[in-house]
Amino acid sequence: MATTEDKHRSTDALISHASSAAQPFNETSSLAGAPTGAQSANTESTRTGSAAFTAVNSLQQDLINTMTDLHQRGWCDGTGGNFSVVANRDPLTLLMAPSGVDKGRVTADALIEVNADGNVTKGNGRASAETLMHLQIVERCQCGAVLHTHSANATVLSKQALHKGCIELEGWEMLKGLRGITTHETTIRVPVVDNNQDLEILCKTAKPLLSEAPYGLLVAGHGLYAWGATLKEARRHVEILEFLLNVHWKQQLLGVR
Ligand SMILES: [Zn+2]
Repeated sequence: MATTEDKHRSTDALISHASSAAQPFNETSSLAGAPTGAQSANTESTRTGSAAFTAVNSLQQDLINTMTDLHQRGWCDGTGGNFSVVANRDPLTLLMAPSGVDKGRVTADALIEVNADGNVTKGNGRASAETLMHLQIVERCQCGAVLHTHSANATVLSKQALHKGCIELEGWEMLKGLRGITTHETTIRVPVVDNNQDLEILCKTAKPLLSEAPYGLLVAGHGLYAWGATLKEARRHVEILEFLLNVHWKQQLLGVR
């Protein structure tokens, strides 16, 4: 099985850099904000006793904070969007909000745990059908968190670009917020797949595109899936991709090259 590092290397190789000296994304020189703490909670949940209890609660709080913040950005209005973080790698366990809840008001006791088959193993509530896509991305990309938004930018631009199969983003300083990118002289292609209410069909369509996707995939007329090695990185990636989609829209409106 490919390691996380291998997967990132694979993805990086498909991002076109003007510079051949691309280095792994460096938190200290990046666009990312200050560390939020509990960054390694994903792996800490395997500890035993009170340490595990603390780590899981920290992970729960990090996920809740992420959902609340993204909701405030207007990226998951209504009960839209879906957000998950890997609580345990073996056996695979995702921590996420149940289907149909307001992501701006989720409390820790409302979170559920889901296994590799998409079944709820802890907590009350039903797992969203979109859990299948989260599981596929986690398994294919060996990432630690998947953040799925329903922003207006992702919804409209994906529909516009469906016939091309991707949205090309290039020349923006903020591209450097994506892991592995060190210069604005870079082009990324975010794949776009057709929407489908049958998640098995949607997953099958997306599957061959994931290894080349720059930590993001668009579903036409629906939204964005973004991921990262940790919840913190996934959050940075979703913010960067949403920003890039926003400027792409404005670029088209103004006819800026
Ligand atoms: Zn959705």
